[in-house]
Amino acid sequence: MERTLKPYMIYSRELGARHGAYLVFARNRQQARLIGYDGDIADTWIDCAVNRINDNYIYKYANQDYLKSNTPHTIKNPPSCSHCHIWSVSELDENGLCQDCRK
Ligand SMILES: [Zn+2]
Repeated sequence: MERTLKPYMIYSRELGARHGAYLVFARNRQQARLIGYDGDIADTWIDCAVNRINDNYIYKYANQDYLKSNTPHTIKNPPSCSHCHIWSVSELDENGLCQDCRK
């Protein structure tokens, strides 16, 4: 199924995604940064990086009502790995671990 909203991760280029990242559902990169950016995630607009996420599992973390109505939105605290606290590596297993921490 072709979805209107695509998942993006935004974070500070300078500090890196480990410092913190938001999950944004938007139509494109520009819109993702426009609706997701705030002073907590990156110091400046220029410092705010946007990466497309290609894994479909991430749609589980969207606000399902907004997803259905194609309303762009930001998830500031998606479920993250209980070990490394990163949410963008992979789907979490039953122990709350990402792919990298399972090994
Ligand atoms: Zn992990």
